[in-house]
Amino acid sequence: MEIIKKINECKLIVNQLREKGYKIGLVPTMGFLHEGHINLIRMAKRDCDKVFISIFVNPAQFGPDEDFKNYPRDIKKDSALAEKEGVDYIFYPTVQEMYGSDHKTIVEVKELGKIMCGKYRPIHFAGVTTVVLKLFNIVNAQKAYFGQKDYQQMIIIKKMAADLNMDIEIVSGPTKRESNGLALSSRNKYLSVEERENATILYKCLNLAKNMIKNGEKNLEKVKRIVLGNLEDNRFVKSVDYFEFRDTRTLEEIKRVDKDYKSILAAAAVWIGKTRLIDNIIIKVEKQ
Ligand code: AMP
Repeated sequence: MEIIKKINECKLIVNQLREKGYKIGLVPTMGFLHEGHINLIRMAKRDCDKVFISIFVNPAQFGPDEDFKNYPRDIKKDSALAEKEGVDYIFYPTVQEMYGSDHKTIVEVKELGKIMCGKYRPIHFAGVTTVVLKLFNIVNAQKAYFGQKDYQQMIIIKKMAADLNMDIEIVSGPTKRESNGLALSSRNKYLSVEERENATILYKCLNLAKNMIKNGEKNLEKVKRIVLGNLEDNRFVKSVDYFEFRDTRTLEEIKRVDKDYKSILAAAAVWIGKTRLIDNIIIKVEKQ
């Protein structure tokens, strides 16, 4: 496995691999790897001849009061994990290498980037799409892998790739969880032992919504009220940014279950103490 820090070197290597006819897979990450990332790497290994991961904590997707500086980093551990999984290359640039001192361009998927998490993190998705497009231009892969844990991000990236006629297939992988249901996230490191145990409230509430819907409840405003009540009653939940039902493809808000929907996304962002956690599930709707 090779760690590449320079954009030009990375492009050269990718060109050589593509000339040889290799199929290249890219797994973009911010590092501090866990089973969610590893599962995407394994998917890429199954589909592709050469697997790149990128490790880059992207300042452009953090707001001024967010955790860019404190975001957990451990390149040594990450390299060891990646090597064990058979990753061929880690693209590991510095912020200076990626943005220089005169970076002016922003790529933005309108509307989709302003709802849900975008309402609370106004520059976040523009930062994500900008860096992901840069990564796609640097690692000219045929396939790129994203987790459903960040469902809105995955939809936005698919939309960018489609709108900009990009020659890359966006593949999504399932959300990986701890045995108690808590979705794996590098940010779980911020949680105290007690907070970590109680952070399962998020997944429990998503499942509460699922069960209500499976039991025939059609009024999603009512489901939302009950779930929000449960979240707000929990003393570990400092605040709730949102809990919403959305179309799994367009992310349009859904207020009522009707025959148009085969599946519905339930998604939430909550603060457990000083840590913002997001999670979602897809609820399959029975035939009406
Ligand atoms: P991050 O390093 O958090 O930016 O995540 C890099 C990629 O891993 C993104 O595509 C995420 O959606 C994905 N990912 C993060 N956590 C999980 C998880 N628990 N399960 C599946 N994929 C995940």
